[in-house]
Amino acid sequence: MIRAVIPGAAGKMGAMLLEALRADAHVVLHAAVERKGHAAVGTAAAAGVTVGDDFDAALDGADVYIDFTAPEATGVLVALAARKRVAAVIGTTGLSPEARTAIFHAAADIPVVVAPNFSLGVNLLLGLAEEATRALGPDFDVEVIEVHHRHKRDAPSGTAIAIAEALARGRDVDLAAVRRYARDGDVGPRPDGEIGVQAVRGGDVVGEHTVLFLGPAERVEITHRAGSRLIFARGAVRAAAWVAGKPPGVYSMKDVLGL
Ligand code: NAD
Repeated sequence: MIRAVIPGAAGKMGAMLLEALRADAHVVLHAAVERKGHAAVGTAAAAGVTVGDDFDAALDGADVYIDFTAPEATGVLVALAARKRVAAVIGTTGLSPEARTAIFHAAADIPVVVAPNFSLGVNLLLGLAEEATRALGPDFDVEVIEVHHRHKRDAPSGTAIAIAEALARGRDVDLAAVRRYARDGDVGPRPDGEIGVQAVRGGDVVGEHTVLFLGPAERVEITHRAGSRLIFARGAVRAAAWVAGKPPGVYSMKDVLGL
């Protein structure tokens, strides 16, 4: 059995991870953790497991932890896990350059799976988007539209950025040179080769991503709609089972799924 620690256990994704672990045959809940002072500390996370507030202590005896917390927490958590040689699965999005550096350093000592989206469908969409833009060529303008619930902090979504990166790979260009995140004011005609990303926020939408390929007199759309956060949690638990015992390094969901 693989023993997993869940920081952010009282969050929206934390609750889904606890549910996914209850149903999983290979990965069990070792410890659940929340921020110091959080109302959930001391309450039951699962049979026999109480939510604690000491992540470092929770790592003792664990094989892996699964981080769906907040960008400012991720770098701190991964550094602690590297010291204790506990593998990491990181789903938190909107990561700062400092958090990314912390992940990179930790990956010298532990295996880390980082993914902006843990669903099977989105990881398939990433491959389809790259293939489609390569096949359709420069006559087709590409745009990504993402829709998320009103509480989401980061924009565009980590998944939308990953789709834009896949489109840039399909065109052999550097995304930083061609991306356009939202438009406002007298922006003029659309430059050739631009990769646009638009973020919509509202309601309780779990997550929707559409890639538009807009060509002369025809248009192709590829859409993924997440119906439940449980799909991300199941994917993350699958990643946890996969990563425990792997050599140190940074891995993606493509590695986990063998795509
Ligand atoms: P949320 O705000 O509902 O939950 C986050 C939880 O983390 C909170 O309970 C908070 O108290 C806790 N937390 C913050 N800092 C902590 C720390 N230092 N130690 C322990 N706990 C801490 O947010 P959410 O909707 O569950 O999303 C969490 C993150 O996961 C976001 O970045 C979101 O974008 C991302 N996300 C990723 C995927 C994916 O597939 N990769 C899917 C959904 C959400």
